[in-house]
Order: sequence, then C-alpha cells, then structure tokens
Amino acid sequence: MRTSVVYSPDHALHDADTGTWVGITIPSEEVPARIETIVASLRASGREVVPAVSHDDSILKAVHDSDFVEYLRGAYEQWVDWGYLDDPGQPQVTAYAFPTQRFLAPHPLRLPASPGALAGVFAMDTMTQIGKGTFAGARAAVDTAQTAADLILAGSPSAYAACRPPGHHAGAGFFGGSCYLNNAAVAAQTLRDAGLGPVAIIDLDAHHGNGTQQIFYARSDVLYCSVHVDPARGWFPHFVGHADEVGSGDGLGANLNVPIEPGQGDEAWLQGVDTIVEFAQIGDAAAVVVSLGVDAAISDPESPLQITEAGFSKAGERVGSLGLPTVFIQEGGYDLATLGSLVQATLDGFDDARGF
Ligand SMILES: [Zn+2]
Repeated sequence: MRTSVVYSPDHALHDADTGTWVGITIPSEEVPARIETIVASLRASGREVVPAVSHDDSILKAVHDSDFVEYLRGAYEQWVDWGYLDDPGQPQVTAYAFPTQRFLAPHPLRLPASPGALAGVFAMDTMTQIGKGTFAGARAAVDTAQTAADLILAGSPSAYAACRPPGHHAGAGFFGGSCYLNNAAVAAQTLRDAGLGPVAIIDLDAHHGNGTQQIFYARSDVLYCSVHVDPARGWFPHFVGHADEVGSGDGLGANLNVPIEPGQGDEAWLQGVDTIVEFAQIGDAAAVVVSLGVDAAISDPESPLQITEAGFSKAGERVGSLGLPTVFIQEGGYDLATLGSLVQATLDGFDDARGF
C-alpha cells in the first residue's frame, strides 16, 4: 500500500501572515495554502488521507519544557490583555528584547511582565510571530505527527504527516524559524515510548533542524542526522548546524551534520543524503522519522540549494532502501506551484524502493 497521508484542517487556524526581518515587516511564506496544495496533490494521486486524532499533552511535554508549552498556549491572550492590538496596533505577538547570554551575565533570568519582552525569552528570532490561532494550529500539527507515528505502531510500514506549521527549528524551550512545536521530535518520542528504537531522524530540509538536534543532543536512543546548507555561509539558523556538533554525554556520536555549500545541486546533496542514510544504518536504527522539507528545491523562492524533483525522488528511494518503518513529517517548502509534486516525488521514490 502506498504511504498514506495524515491531515488536520486545523493547521489553517495558524495564519500569522507577517514577520519582522532585519527590522522590516515582510509577508510570511509559511501560509495555509502550502498544506492544502500538498494534500490535494497526494489525494489526487490516489493516496489514502486519514484524519489526525487528538491526543493529550503527555508526549508534547516529554519533548518540550512545560513552561514553554504553557507560554505558547497563553501568549496571544496576554498580548490582547495588554492592549497591544490597539496600542501599538500589532496584531501578533512579537519579541522586541532578548535576554541573551551576554546581556544577562552574571544575573539569573527573571521572567519580565511585558509581553514583548517575555516573547524574547522564548523566541529565537523576530520573524516568527504568534497570532490568534497559532497555538491551536501548532497543536494540530503535533496531533498529525503523533497520529502518523501511531499508524506505524499499529503496523503500517509508513505514513506521511501533513504538518503545518513546521517544527524542526523549535527546541525544548523556544520557538522560531516559522516553527513552534517540534513535530518530528513528537513522532520520534511516540515511537520510543512504545519501545521501538533506536529511532533515526533524517532531516532533508534545506536548513539545519537546530531544535530537533537540541532536544535529542544528549540521547543515544534517537539519532539526529541532517544534510543542509552550511550555516557558516550566511544561512539560517546561523548559529547551529556545523559539522563538529556530534552529540554530548550519552548522545556522543548520535548526531551528524552534513553542511553543504550554497548553490549545490543533486549530486552533492544526494551524496549527503547517502552519508546520513548510512549513519542511520550504522546506528542500528529500527525506525525512521524523515523531516521532509522540500525548500532545497531549485523552484523554491530563495532556496539555498538547487535540487530537482528527480533529486527528491532519489532521496526518497535512499530512505526507502533502509527498509524500516518510516514516518514522514512535513517541514519547509514554499513554492506553491511545485510543492505538491516535490512531496509526491519523494514519497513515490520511497514507495517504489519498498515495493509498495
Ligand atoms: Zn527550511
């Protein structure tokens, strides 16, 4: 059976349509139409689409700090209560001050009263804002990821979770990079809690998944491996995603980053994919979670890489060659005209390799 699709219409509740980048307001590319076009394309090709099931917060709070989850849940209401919708007239929660290490030292962090400053405690950037339905949308994405993992545990060989907003930049206690809650981490933890593992998270998004890496950095039961544009060459997430980040403590050796030069095409990228697939194999992975961003595509606006649809199909094949239970989690990818076919190509490559 071809890989099925898990979907929740509630992703559309999150519609924070602008962000602040280097001080200017820009439209968000992380729009509800992304998931609608992907799911329409997958449905048209005959794949089964199953609804996401609601879960309680237990897995969510196993991968995220509880105070962070509660902050996100109440951030918009607090913004409204402080009157910020009218004065200064900002419809979305936006951080304006950040308690960086250099700012605070030698003092401990105290939570500020002002919502704009409090946002700076939990935000990694100013681009990622919190609107009225952001928490509900992000929560639905978590349910979508968890439902896909549940399908694997019930015996499906694979499932694709149409998650939005994406998650791989969100860490244990922070949000950013258009991500609020970490869907891939939730899927991996769901598999682990059922005794399946080790789990390998294979991150194919154009950007490094700094949040996922952080959550599992000191753990050996969840491997994180990623091929992405070199953050040292000026690309988000800038501060993290380097080749010398290899895990710590029990997780030493369970983290692999393969940064590649901006502008590279299929050949260099697929070599990187081979390296991380091999890493999952050597690590004796029993299940795979793929952070499937398709923003490395040549068609993507401002893509740092030049990957073709055929390249994504081959990446799907290589993941499929592992022959392991696999959950796909949607991450980035912003070109509405080609998003559906890029995801489709990846899943087709995977399904063909598995003989589905
Ligand atoms: Zn990305």
